[in-house]
Amino acid sequence: MPSYTPPLRDMQFVLHEVLNVSDDFKQMPSHAEIDADTIAAVLEEGGKFASQVIFPLNQIGDQQGCTLNRDTHEVKTPDGFKAAFEQYVQGGWPALSADPAYGGQGLPLVVNQCLYEMLNSANQAWTMYPGLTHGAYEALHAHGTEAQKNLYLPKLTSGEWTGTMCLTEPHCGTDLGLLRTKAEPQADGTYRLTGNKIFISAGEHDMVSNIVHLVLARLPDAPSGSKGISLFVVPKFHVQPDGRLGERNGIYCGGLEHKMGIHGNATCQMVLDGAVGTLVGQPNKGLAAMFVMMNAARIGVGMQSLGLTEVAYQNALAYAKDRIQSRSLTGVKNPSQAADSILVHPDVRKMLLTAKAYAEGGRALALYCAMLIERELHHPDDVERSEAADQVALLTPIVKAFITDNAWTATSSCMQVFGGHGFIREWGMEQYVRDARINMIYEGTNTIQSLDLLGRKVLSNQGAALKKFGAKIAALVAQEQGNEEMAEFLTPLAKLGQQMTQFTTEIGYKAMQDADEVGAAAVDYLRVAGHLVFGYFWARMAQVALQQMAQGSRDPFYQAKLQTARFYFAKLFPETATLMITARAGASVLMETDAVFA
Ligand SMILES: Cc1cc2nc3c(=O)[nH]c(=O)nc-3n(C[C@H](O)[C@H](O)[C@H](O)COP(=O)(O)OP(=O)(O)OC[C@H]3O[C@@H](n4cnc5c(N)ncnc54)[C@H](O)[C@@H]3O)c2cc1C
Repeated sequence: MPSYTPPLRDMQFVLHEVLNVSDDFKQMPSHAEIDADTIAAVLEEGGKFASQVIFPLNQIGDQQGCTLNRDTHEVKTPDGFKAAFEQYVQGGWPALSADPAYGGQGLPLVVNQCLYEMLNSANQAWTMYPGLTHGAYEALHAHGTEAQKNLYLPKLTSGEWTGTMCLTEPHCGTDLGLLRTKAEPQADGTYRLTGNKIFISAGEHDMVSNIVHLVLARLPDAPSGSKGISLFVVPKFHVQPDGRLGERNGIYCGGLEHKMGIHGNATCQMVLDGAVGTLVGQPNKGLAAMFVMMNAARIGVGMQSLGLTEVAYQNALAYAKDRIQSRSLTGVKNPSQAADSILVHPDVRKMLLTAKAYAEGGRALALYCAMLIERELHHPDDVERSEAADQVALLTPIVKAFITDNAWTATSSCMQVFGGHGFIREWGMEQYVRDARINMIYEGTNTIQSLDLLGRKVLSNQGAALKKFGAKIAALVAQEQGNEEMAEFLTPLAKLGQQMTQFTTEIGYKAMQDADEVGAAAVDYLRVAGHLVFGYFWARMAQVALQQMAQGSRDPFYQAKLQTARFYFAKLFPETATLMITARAGASVLMETDAVFA
């Protein structure tokens, strides 16, 4: 049986010692009163809920999965899921960072992100039910009419209803311009939607009284392609103007997908059979409106993988301490036992340190990103808001793709620490590997994230947003100039920062001759950019640890931080050199290969 301890100490470290969130909150009138004690108390309770209520349902959910009643189209979630959701609602957790105007508690998003990391460590499949609801809430909050907001937001905030995002169709995944679901305008101002959606997470389930679907569809006169897509809100049950539930709407689950992981989450084929919906935002501008939800979901997917990396690490570490096998290469370490713990073997340590470095680097990046979103939404200064928005746009594909790719490596390494026992169900490790795999695929595959980063977020503005991040690195390097203890972190980081400009310019130049150069370099490029960002945060974390130790702290937490930073820069960060070589290899080795595929 796996176990899970919420990483509250590390969260506090990132929030207060690395990011100094209280300074930021003081600049935002809506959060000026938030203090560190409140955050700590909320996270402690959230950690208890995640580890005591949600975590015990993880393996049950994996084994039972969801079941569809084909007569009623109702979906039953695994045992305990519904009761846990009721507890979640009663605890007020869905409202944590929602707008007080709709019943929310108005706490900073960064607190909610910490909660979500813990929920995802505990049980990713369960957490997707409330997770998608947040995205639906945000899309309606940003683009809904007053009437739509008043009708839906209070119930999504309280957790009485959940939300979904219905984009994908059988012939249309990445390329949403191909979608066919139709929306016919009605005399009363509503629309009737007809079509088939697939892979809809939490599309149908038994945990709440109503499900609010955000659906992409085409109006009759819509232009073809992605410029002709509109967004609609389609409830499972019609909602009366006074909020009471009416008749069943014509949207139902026609089938459940049988899949590799996240079995406890219902992945539904949804049939829209003249379902009544209302338009959200402007006609034919649905993709832009849906991007609010997709961006929130992309960061949410990063949090899923962060959670899995952390829980896999914790269990692999506990196992490695306990498991005895072979003797240390440098001589017997534990003579009272027949063999030494596997922790004496360098490669076992490497696997564990990889997971720890990816978890803690990911936490720093994800929480930094949450603070940027906070600034984008709540900072009183226009320039600050707009700069924060640019950084969020730059970092979102990195949070999504780099953290999820790393989690695949980390969960697999942690499984390897268990040897054959990792492959056996009862230890829970193989579930983490299976669950982690989807995060690289949905919400835009990681290839699409890398194209978004390189094409839209970097090359389209001559790397302006990336240079802003580079300025943070330069400031840290300048601040620590002459500090020999920081040199092992800052020398490689500063070098990569300098190489990045040339590297980006070269790809941009080649792309002007051949657009395939972007596609050929993008995945490698995102990993290099991911390390640049992680490298900054690992250097910052090492800086804080060194400062604490210089002031006399003997807290092993800081020593561990420093040792992990050393490992990260020595063993993981250097892959950037190879990645820059492979990215520079160009498009021809990929595209002049027709004989291979003939
Ligand atoms: C468990 C699960 C849950 C999901 N939940 C939801 C949900 O709640 N709502 C929803 O709407 N959808 C959901 N999806 C769908 C998911 O977002 C899509 O599967 C994903 O976007 C990829 O689309 P596709 O499967 O059609 O693959 P395709 O688009 O067919 O892609 C196939 C391959 O081609 C590559 N490719 C495609 N286009 C390009 C390109 N332009 N450049 C380079 N490479 C390209 C892709 O990266 C991929 O490797 C879910 C999927 C799964 C499996």
